[in-house]
Amino acid sequence: MRVAVEFGKSKIYTALVFSIHKEAPIGYEAKDIYQILDDKPLVNEIQLEHWKWIATYYMCSLGEVYRSALPSAFLLESETVILFNTSFKNENNLTEDEFLIFEALQYQSQLSVNQIMEILDKKTVFPIIKSLIEKEVIIVKEQIYEQYKPKLIKYVQLTGSWSSSNKLSELLDLLSRAKKQRELILAYFQLKATKNDIKVIELQDVSRTSSSIIKALVDKGILEYYFIQTDRINFDGKTEAIKQLTPSQITAFNAIKSNFKTKQAVLLKGITSSGKTEIYVKLIKELLHNNKQVLYLLPEIALTTQLIERLQYYFGEYLSVFHSKYSMNERVEVWNNVLENKQKAQLILGARSSLFLPYSNLGLIIVDEEHEPSFKQFDPAPRYHARDAAIVLANQHNAKVLLGSATPSIETFYNAKQGKYGLVELNERFGKVQLPEINLVDIKEKHRKKRMKGHFSDTLILLIEEALKNKEQVILFQNRRGFAPVLECETCGESPQCPNCDVSLTYHSFKNELRCHYCGYKQAKPYNCFACGSEKLNTKGFGTEQIELELQQLFENANVGRMDLDTTRGKYGYQKILGKFKHHEIDILVGTQMLSKGLDFENVSLVGIMNADAMLNFPDFRAHERSYQLMVQVAGRAGRSKKRGKVIIQTFNPYHQILQQVSTHSFEKMYKEQLNERWEYKYPPFYRTIKITIKHKNYTTLNDGALWLGKAFNNVFKENVLGPAIPAISKIRNLYIQHFIIKIPQKQSILKTKEAIGRVKSTFQAVKVFRSIKFIMDVDNY
Ligand code: ADP
Ligand code: ZN
Ligand code: ZN
Repeated sequence: MRVAVEFGKSKIYTALVFSIHKEAPIGYEAKDIYQILDDKPLVNEIQLEHWKWIATYYMCSLGEVYRSALPSAFLLESETVILFNTSFKNENNLTEDEFLIFEALQYQSQLSVNQIMEILDKKTVFPIIKSLIEKEVIIVKEQIYEQYKPKLIKYVQLTGSWSSSNKLSELLDLLSRAKKQRELILAYFQLKATKNDIKVIELQDVSRTSSSIIKALVDKGILEYYFIQTDRINFDGKTEAIKQLTPSQITAFNAIKSNFKTKQAVLLKGITSSGKTEIYVKLIKELLHNNKQVLYLLPEIALTTQLIERLQYYFGEYLSVFHSKYSMNERVEVWNNVLENKQKAQLILGARSSLFLPYSNLGLIIVDEEHEPSFKQFDPAPRYHARDAAIVLANQHNAKVLLGSATPSIETFYNAKQGKYGLVELNERFGKVQLPEINLVDIKEKHRKKRMKGHFSDTLILLIEEALKNKEQVILFQNRRGFAPVLECETCGESPQCPNCDVSLTYHSFKNELRCHYCGYKQAKPYNCFACGSEKLNTKGFGTEQIELELQQLFENANVGRMDLDTTRGKYGYQKILGKFKHHEIDILVGTQMLSKGLDFENVSLVGIMNADAMLNFPDFRAHERSYQLMVQVAGRAGRSKKRGKVIIQTFNPYHQILQQVSTHSFEKMYKEQLNERWEYKYPPFYRTIKITIKHKNYTTLNDGALWLGKAFNNVFKENVLGPAIPAISKIRNLYIQHFIIKIPQKQSILKTKEAIGRVKSTFQAVKVFRSIKFIMDVDNY
């Protein structure tokens, strides 16, 4: 259970009782537990075992695991700030104490826990706060950005003067020359026969027209928009039977099950759109039938409404969703439901943090898109890999793990080839649709022949035109947001740098400003070069924003949309853009890697990768693997139904082996080549890596520390340590950075290695001048 414990005079923290013993601490006197916060345990034994494994394996403290595992509402502290929940209405069922707080919040915008103690003149206030949260009177500050916003749906109706039905023929006469608009009005009346309110998207669907036709009628004063508030997508009782699997899917399904007899984990390598999800669904069904809990893990960006809705249809009241964009109350609710093993939480769909929920009866964990690097938590600790931690968790529950991907990670595929995991392949797309045709376009050549318009080759332009003509949609991928990454002086070559970080600032045309993507620093775009004063400032490189702008100029009649971190902020930002795309309000969607995941749009016939070179040249041993995966995944968005899709990859280097492998769908070839390189340069899966990063605001102190550590590590690990090295970005948020990579051969004990690192670390931190250097350990770093 959780307990409140006191540190110093007034600081109170929420802690968790991990074990009970009778050895009094030496050297200080322990205080009493301040208060027990729960009536019954909030966590279970298996869960704590798992946390312990994470802390040990990923070299962090148990407290760090606990902090990231529990929803923040469970972690009240004396400094926690409480705010009034403005949507709260009914104050009648509040207790006296609760009412006092409610009242105080009418005069003060926020209260700290300490202030609440003063107001109530008592120290035991956590239960009151807890109850206020449950009654939705208050919210905890850090959640403020997730406050519930009602979702509005856009409807359309005839304006007053046209709304009576005897006006129909007059209206149709009026529109006799606008064929599309006429058809739309007919569709409107057809819908009106059965419905009072007609959604814009419904009308578009039925009339097979685009939003521009509706807009034209609105402009003419014939139609008008109005909005109705709906609730968040909640299960509405609609269900659907699971799909009949195709013969090849059945073969795969059976192979998975027979592999499970001898293996704990199985890799399902199925090409994009082969129906992996439908296979998961069939497995889930069986487990739910046997009253087992199932966890369906996805990278955050792949958790789309599309997939949630699909699973809701199949599993309705068994499904709960858990991820960081959900509000505190929703997360607490899911936690409690899992803890009590309620039916509603028997199937959890979630991002990596859902590994920490209090499962008691897990039967299966599905890790979809298992190759995704975002499964690895980068910062803060615990720096765990959700796929690997899932395998350990499943082991503790005696459950199975299904890893799914069209482009497995080198590590996983290696494990499968070695027989550690089962391997099942599915090489046929559903409906026997062919994989897209992938063509490489040499833009060096195109530049030379003057066949480029901005960043578009004539080949790509032609294909976009063709797609638009056929009323098909286009996806363009540019792995960089912003307008043009840097501003460069034509006279002296300088570009403006972030004052806090070692990076050039990125130009954002929308606000005409320069921003740092690492620390958030921003400034207005300068008129002169800061170094030489010249006015000739040019943009170098290009991002999503510039592509969007060029598209608007090249294809004046097309609706262009953009999806990147800048346009998808807020809880519904992402869904809004996808919704528009789905309903064909967007013809061409430009975006970053967010586009590569979980999107299933029938009407996309063309995918363009604007520039493949930046990702291939990224300085990291996984860059080639990662580029292959990204390109194949993005390409997989094309031609998912009926017609064969087309993919264009623009590059300066069409003979690059990875591009050749992407264009011929040669996964095995890519795997073999990469594996050879990993062997040669001593990287996973042959060696494990631990990355040690040190940071300090003073460059000399850091450098001295790095040299000291370099010697110490060298003594212990000899040639298996790289560094100290200065990373490409050597300063972030005013802290200088250096790092080491420690490589661990297969036969070397991981435990002993970690102990050795631990010893070096404590000796290092015993040196007075080095004590203020941050020391970060990242096991199996990405
Ligand atoms: P993947 O996860 O492998 O990319 P999906 O499971 O998303 O593939 O399947 C692609 C599309 O094909 C989806 O729209 C899905 O509903 C459809 N589909 C796949 N298998 C079947 C099936 N057996 N019956 C009907 N539709 C299917
Ligand atoms: Zn200059
Ligand atoms: Zn910065």
